[in-house]
Amino acid sequence: EAHYPQPSETRVIAVANQKGGVGKTTTVVNLAAALADTGSRVLVIDMDPQGNASTAFGAEHSSGSPSVYDVLEGRLTIADVKLSCEDFPTLEIVPSTIDLSGAELEIANLENRTFLLRDTIVEYLKNTDDHYDYVFIDCAPSLGLLVLNALCAAHEVLIPIQAEYYALEGLGQLLKTIGLVQSTVNRNLIISTMLITMFDRRTILSQDVYDEVKEHYPDIVLDATIPRAVKIAEAPSFSKSVITYDASGAGAVAYREAALEIAKRSERVLKTIAARRNGD
Ligand code: ADP
Ligand code: MG
Repeated sequence: EAHYPQPSETRVIAVANQKGGVGKTTTVVNLAAALADTGSRVLVIDMDPQGNASTAFGAEHSSGSPSVYDVLEGRLTIADVKLSCEDFPTLEIVPSTIDLSGAELEIANLENRTFLLRDTIVEYLKNTDDHYDYVFIDCAPSLGLLVLNALCAAHEVLIPIQAEYYALEGLGQLLKTIGLVQSTVNRNLIISTMLITMFDRRTILSQDVYDEVKEHYPDIVLDATIPRAVKIAEAPSFSKSVITYDASGAGAVAYREAALEIAKRSERVLKTIAARRNGD
């Protein structure tokens, strides 16, 4: 297995799109797995009360069990709640439970309500002996306070785009929200990556969606596209990523290609973020 280049600093990537079912969780799980499979040290933070990423990694996430909910509300730390993953020794997950759905209301009146996740990640990374190459944050399908916390904590956003009609329609609202975040609470945030998911090479539509995104965001969209593949959808019910569930299948190959592209862009992305930080 070829080793991917490791980033010189931890990359904190929120995977966001307010549309449900576009492949956010699937992308987090399989990119994290593909990167960990080549030796990258990866932390996945599940910020969706549905807990689908937790399920995919076989992480305990029944209501009441220690989770990101407790971390956000300051009862526990990331170190307290993170779980290891059976298939990948360098991958850890901060699970989410349905309890997280109550958090938006519970934190709504706190002064630092948008920075809770950021502060806890910064604190954790500063104090742990573990080094991470990537932190992926799986977002809920909304533009609410939980997603805002993810966008404040992240340095980068990865937007999965489903290859279908109207794919770009919802994108405007998301870009507006990200723009608002950039002009207020997280000036350094960049949109580093777009990934076309559920691509069907038999249809002209899929190619049209890709071409249109490529035309508008040539440096952001990955060359790799993720095919619609049954194995990708099946894997979570076995608590697996497709990287282990169907290692040589089209889904695993595509997610590995996407992961390699993301890894190769690391220095360019980190440079862009540093430039923003320095106010250039
Ligand atoms: P989101 O997190 O954006 O809501 P998911 O990653 O949960 O989206 O994907 C939505 C559904 O589509 C899930 O049932 C998932 O298994 C399935 N799915 C995602 N990507 C693919 C793919 N490339 N091929 C087939 N099914 C997919
Ligand atoms: Mg999801």
